[in-house]
Amino acid sequence: MKIVFANSAWVGAAERLILRGGSWRTVRLRVRYGLILHPQAGPVLIDTGYTPHATTGPNRSAALRLYGAVLRPALNAAEQPLPLLARFGLIPRDISAVIVTHFHADHMSGLSLFPEARFIASDAAWSRAKARTSWQNLRHGVFSELFPADFESRLDGLSSKPQIAPHDGVPGGADLFGDGSVMAVDLPGHADGQFGLLFPNLERPLLYAVDAQWLLTALTENRTPGLPATLLAEDTAALEPTSEMLRRFLATGGEVMFCHDPEPTSYDLDSEGG
Ligand SMILES: [Zn+2]
Repeated sequence: MKIVFANSAWVGAAERLILRGGSWRTVRLRVRYGLILHPQAGPVLIDTGYTPHATTGPNRSAALRLYGAVLRPALNAAEQPLPLLARFGLIPRDISAVIVTHFHADHMSGLSLFPEARFIASDAAWSRAKARTSWQNLRHGVFSELFPADFESRLDGLSSKPQIAPHDGVPGGADLFGDGSVMAVDLPGHADGQFGLLFPNLERPLLYAVDAQWLLTALTENRTPGLPATLLAEDTAALEPTSEMLRRFLATGGEVMFCHDPEPTSYDLDSEGG
Protein backbone atom coordinates (compact mmCIF):
# COMPACT_ATOMS: atom_id res chain seq x y z
CA MET A 1 0.00 0.00 0.00
CA LYS A 2 1.40 3.37 -1.02
CA ILE A 3 0.55 6.59 0.81
CA VAL A 4 1.48 9.99 -0.56
CA PHE A 5 0.51 13.50 0.49
CA ALA A 6 0.37 16.54 -1.79
CA ASN A 7 0.17 20.23 -0.96
CA SER A 8 -2.88 21.80 -2.59
CA ALA A 9 -2.13 25.36 -1.47
CA TRP A 10 -0.15 27.65 0.80
CA VAL A 11 -1.85 29.75 3.47
CA GLY A 12 -0.26 32.31 5.76
CA ALA A 13 -0.91 32.55 9.50
CA ALA A 14 0.75 34.46 12.33
CA GLU A 15 2.86 31.97 14.29
CA ARG A 16 1.41 33.03 17.62
CA LEU A 17 -2.08 32.02 16.47
CA ILE A 18 -1.00 28.42 16.05
CA LEU A 19 1.84 28.06 18.56
CA ARG A 20 1.70 29.20 22.18
CA GLY A 21 4.45 31.75 22.78
CA GLY A 22 5.00 32.11 19.04
CA SER A 23 5.97 35.33 17.25
CA TRP A 24 3.94 37.60 14.97
CA ARG A 25 5.91 36.36 11.98
CA THR A 26 3.79 34.80 9.25
CA VAL A 27 4.18 31.06 8.84
CA ARG A 28 3.51 29.61 5.41
CA LEU A 29 1.26 26.63 6.06
CA ARG A 30 0.59 23.71 3.77
CA VAL A 31 -2.88 22.43 2.91
CA ARG A 32 -2.25 18.72 2.53
CA TYR A 33 -4.45 16.00 1.17
CA GLY A 34 -3.45 12.45 0.41
CA LEU A 35 -3.68 9.52 -1.97
CA ILE A 36 -3.72 5.89 -0.85
CA LEU A 37 -3.10 3.17 -3.40
CA HIS A 38 -4.82 0.32 -1.61
CA PRO A 39 -4.35 -3.21 -2.97
CA GLN A 40 -8.07 -4.04 -2.72
CA ALA A 41 -9.93 -0.71 -2.48
CA GLY A 42 -7.92 0.88 -5.29
CA PRO A 43 -6.98 4.57 -5.42
CA VAL A 44 -8.54 6.44 -2.49
CA LEU A 45 -8.14 10.12 -1.72
CA ILE A 46 -7.77 11.57 1.77
CA ASP A 47 -9.67 14.87 1.41
CA THR A 48 -9.16 17.05 -1.67
CA GLY A 49 -7.32 20.08 -0.29
CA TYR A 50 -8.16 23.55 -1.60
CA THR A 51 -9.30 23.57 -5.20
CA PRO A 52 -10.54 26.45 -7.38
CA HIS A 53 -14.11 25.60 -6.29
CA ALA A 54 -13.32 27.30 -2.97
CA THR A 55 -11.04 30.08 -4.17
CA THR A 56 -11.96 31.30 -7.65
CA GLY A 57 -15.15 29.49 -8.75
CA PRO A 58 -17.49 31.98 -10.50
CA ASN A 59 -20.65 30.69 -8.78
CA ARG A 60 -19.43 30.96 -5.21
CA SER A 61 -21.73 32.41 -2.56
CA ALA A 62 -20.88 35.75 -0.96
CA ALA A 63 -19.79 33.85 2.16
CA LEU A 64 -17.34 31.66 0.26
CA ARG A 65 -15.98 34.71 -1.59
CA LEU A 66 -15.40 36.44 1.73
CA TYR A 67 -13.73 33.32 3.14
CA GLY A 68 -11.36 33.21 0.15
CA ALA A 69 -10.64 36.92 0.39
CA VAL A 70 -9.73 36.68 4.09
CA LEU A 71 -7.61 33.52 3.99
CA ARG A 72 -6.20 34.14 0.49
CA PRO A 73 -4.93 30.62 -0.10
CA ALA A 74 -2.37 30.44 -2.92
CA LEU A 75 -3.23 27.33 -4.90
CA ASN A 76 -0.31 25.08 -5.78
CA ALA A 77 -1.16 24.20 -9.40
CA ALA A 78 1.45 21.44 -9.67
CA GLU A 79 -0.03 19.49 -6.75
CA GLN A 80 -3.74 19.96 -7.34
CA PRO A 81 -5.70 16.67 -7.48
CA LEU A 82 -5.64 16.20 -11.27
CA PRO A 83 -1.86 16.60 -11.70
CA LEU A 84 -1.36 14.43 -8.60
CA LEU A 85 -3.44 11.64 -10.13
CA ALA A 86 -1.67 12.05 -13.48
CA ARG A 87 1.66 11.30 -11.80
CA PHE A 88 0.26 7.89 -10.96
CA GLY A 89 -1.39 7.36 -14.34
CA LEU A 90 -4.84 7.94 -12.87
CA ILE A 91 -7.88 9.99 -13.88
CA PRO A 92 -10.68 11.21 -11.56
CA ARG A 93 -12.97 8.31 -12.51
CA ASP A 94 -10.37 5.90 -11.12
CA ILE A 95 -10.90 7.24 -7.59
CA SER A 96 -13.09 4.69 -5.82
CA ALA A 97 -13.49 6.68 -2.62
CA VAL A 98 -12.70 10.02 -1.04
CA ILE A 99 -12.21 9.91 2.71
CA VAL A 100 -13.64 13.23 3.96
CA THR A 101 -12.06 13.83 7.37
CA HIS A 102 -14.35 16.80 8.12
CA PHE A 103 -16.44 19.29 6.23
CA HIS A 104 -14.18 22.35 6.13
CA ALA A 105 -13.61 23.92 2.71
CA ASP A 106 -9.89 23.18 2.61
CA HIS A 107 -10.66 19.46 2.93
CA MET A 108 -13.66 18.96 0.66
CA SER A 109 -13.85 21.73 -1.92
CA GLY A 110 -12.89 19.37 -4.75
CA LEU A 111 -15.42 16.58 -4.11
CA SER A 112 -17.28 17.37 -7.33
CA LEU A 113 -14.19 16.37 -9.33
CA PHE A 114 -14.76 12.67 -8.54
CA PRO A 115 -17.99 11.41 -10.08
CA GLU A 116 -17.39 7.71 -9.35
CA ALA A 117 -16.22 8.01 -5.77
CA ARG A 118 -18.09 7.09 -2.65
CA PHE A 119 -17.52 9.42 0.27
CA ILE A 120 -16.21 7.83 3.46
CA ALA A 121 -17.22 10.35 6.13
CA SER A 122 -18.96 10.74 9.46
CA ASP A 123 -22.61 10.02 8.76
CA ALA A 124 -23.45 11.48 12.19
CA ALA A 125 -21.80 14.81 11.28
CA TRP A 126 -23.53 14.74 7.89
CA SER A 127 -26.93 14.28 9.58
CA ARG A 128 -26.24 17.30 11.75
CA ALA A 129 -25.03 19.40 8.81
CA LYS A 130 -28.10 18.44 6.81
CA ALA A 131 -30.40 19.49 9.65
CA ARG A 132 -28.85 22.97 9.82
CA THR A 133 -29.54 25.89 7.51
CA SER A 134 -26.71 27.09 5.25
CA TRP A 135 -26.30 30.05 7.55
CA GLN A 136 -26.03 27.85 10.65
CA ASN A 137 -23.50 25.65 8.85
CA LEU A 138 -21.32 28.69 8.18
CA ARG A 139 -20.89 29.10 11.92
CA HIS A 140 -19.45 25.57 11.93
CA GLY A 141 -17.12 26.47 9.04
CA VAL A 142 -19.19 24.38 6.63
CA PHE A 143 -20.17 25.70 3.18
CA SER A 144 -23.23 23.73 2.11
CA GLU A 145 -22.56 24.59 -1.55
CA LEU A 146 -19.39 22.45 -1.57
CA PHE A 147 -21.32 19.18 -1.07
CA PRO A 148 -22.12 17.52 -4.41
CA ALA A 149 -25.91 17.30 -4.88
CA ASP A 150 -25.79 13.50 -4.58
CA PHE A 151 -23.49 13.50 -1.54
CA GLU A 152 -25.87 11.53 0.66
CA SER A 153 -26.49 8.73 -1.84
CA ARG A 154 -22.71 8.28 -2.19
CA LEU A 155 -22.00 8.52 1.53
CA ASP A 156 -20.31 5.47 3.05
CA GLY A 157 -20.71 6.33 6.72
CA LEU A 158 -18.26 5.46 9.46
CA SER A 159 -21.03 4.04 11.65
CA SER A 160 -21.28 0.95 9.40
CA LYS A 161 -17.59 0.05 9.84
CA PRO A 162 -16.29 -2.51 12.32
CA GLN A 163 -14.49 -1.03 15.32
CA ILE A 164 -10.97 -1.93 16.38
CA ALA A 165 -10.28 -1.46 20.10
CA PRO A 166 -7.52 0.80 21.44
CA HIS A 167 -4.46 -0.83 23.01
CA ASP A 168 -1.26 0.32 24.73
CA GLY A 169 -1.42 3.98 23.72
CA VAL A 170 -2.60 3.23 20.19
CA PRO A 171 -6.10 4.63 19.64
CA GLY A 172 -8.97 2.50 18.37
CA GLY A 173 -11.18 3.32 15.47
CA ALA A 174 -13.25 2.24 12.50
CA ASP A 175 -11.66 -0.26 10.11
CA LEU A 176 -12.24 1.42 6.74
CA PHE A 177 -11.36 -1.38 4.34
CA GLY A 178 -11.95 -4.46 6.47
CA ASP A 179 -8.28 -5.42 6.58
CA GLY A 180 -7.04 -3.30 9.48
CA SER A 181 -4.78 -1.25 7.20
CA VAL A 182 -6.53 2.11 7.54
CA MET A 183 -8.52 3.14 10.61
CA ALA A 184 -10.63 6.23 11.21
CA VAL A 185 -9.75 7.65 14.64
CA ASP A 186 -12.04 10.25 16.25
CA LEU A 187 -10.34 13.64 16.77
CA PRO A 188 -12.92 15.70 18.65
CA GLY A 189 -12.37 19.41 19.13
CA HIS A 190 -11.53 21.12 15.85
CA ALA A 191 -14.63 20.35 13.78
CA ASP A 192 -17.87 18.40 14.04
CA GLY A 193 -17.13 14.73 13.33
CA GLN A 194 -13.45 15.22 12.50
CA PHE A 195 -11.48 11.99 12.35
CA GLY A 196 -7.89 11.17 11.50
CA LEU A 197 -6.39 8.14 9.80
CA LEU A 198 -4.25 5.55 11.50
CA PHE A 199 -2.04 3.30 9.40
CA PRO A 200 -1.08 0.78 12.08
CA ASN A 201 0.80 -1.73 9.91
CA LEU A 202 3.55 0.57 8.60
CA GLU A 203 7.07 0.01 9.87
CA ARG A 204 6.52 3.16 11.89
CA PRO A 205 2.75 3.47 12.47
CA LEU A 206 1.39 6.77 11.16
CA LEU A 207 -1.51 8.79 12.50
CA TYR A 208 -2.61 11.50 10.12
CA ALA A 209 -4.23 13.82 12.65
CA VAL A 210 -5.54 16.35 10.10
CA ASP A 211 -6.39 19.60 11.94
CA ALA A 212 -6.16 18.45 15.57
CA GLN A 213 -3.28 20.96 15.70
CA TRP A 214 -1.43 23.00 13.10
CA LEU A 215 2.18 22.31 14.08
CA LEU A 216 3.78 19.14 15.42
CA THR A 217 5.94 21.39 17.61
CA ALA A 218 2.81 22.55 19.45
CA LEU A 219 2.23 18.94 20.45
CA THR A 220 5.77 17.89 21.30
CA GLU A 221 6.72 21.11 23.13
CA ASN A 222 3.35 21.44 24.90
CA ARG A 223 2.71 24.71 23.08
CA THR A 224 -0.83 24.19 21.84
CA PRO A 225 -2.37 27.61 21.19
CA GLY A 226 -4.99 29.23 23.42
CA LEU A 227 -7.23 32.12 22.46
CA PRO A 228 -8.16 33.16 19.84
CA ALA A 229 -7.40 29.89 17.99
CA THR A 230 -9.49 27.86 20.43
CA LEU A 231 -12.49 30.14 19.77
CA LEU A 232 -12.68 28.69 16.28
CA ALA A 233 -12.93 25.13 17.58
CA GLU A 234 -16.17 23.19 17.47
CA ASP A 235 -15.60 21.85 21.00
CA THR A 236 -12.88 23.73 22.89
CA ALA A 237 -12.93 21.36 25.88
CA ALA A 238 -12.11 18.41 23.62
CA LEU A 239 -8.97 19.97 22.09
CA GLU A 240 -6.55 19.13 24.89
CA PRO A 241 -7.72 15.52 25.47
CA THR A 242 -7.27 14.93 21.72
CA SER A 243 -3.74 16.38 21.85
CA GLU A 244 -3.02 14.15 24.88
CA MET A 245 -4.15 11.10 22.92
CA LEU A 246 -1.75 12.09 20.11
CA ARG A 247 1.11 12.52 22.60
CA ARG A 248 0.45 9.03 23.96
CA PHE A 249 0.58 7.69 20.42
CA LEU A 250 3.91 9.49 19.80
CA ALA A 251 5.22 7.90 23.00
CA THR A 252 4.56 4.43 21.54
CA GLY A 253 6.98 5.30 18.71
CA GLY A 254 4.29 6.29 16.23
CA GLU A 255 4.48 9.21 13.81
CA VAL A 256 1.92 12.04 13.85
CA MET A 257 1.35 14.25 10.86
CA PHE A 258 -0.94 17.28 10.44
CA CYS A 259 -2.54 18.84 7.39
CA HIS A 260 -1.06 22.31 7.75
CA ASP A 261 2.40 21.79 9.24
CA PRO A 262 4.94 23.38 6.85
CA GLU A 263 7.69 20.91 7.77
CA PRO A 264 8.07 18.35 4.98
CA THR A 265 7.50 14.70 5.83
CA SER A 266 8.67 11.58 4.05
CA TYR A 267 5.12 11.19 2.67
CA ASP A 268 5.10 14.55 0.90
CA LEU A 269 5.34 14.55 -2.86
CA ASP A 270 7.97 17.28 -2.82
CA SER A 271 10.22 15.25 -0.54
CA GLU A 272 10.39 12.30 -2.94
CA GLY A 273 13.16 13.86 -4.97
CA GLY A 274 10.68 14.49 -7.78
ZN1 LIG B 1 -10.47 22.11 9.47
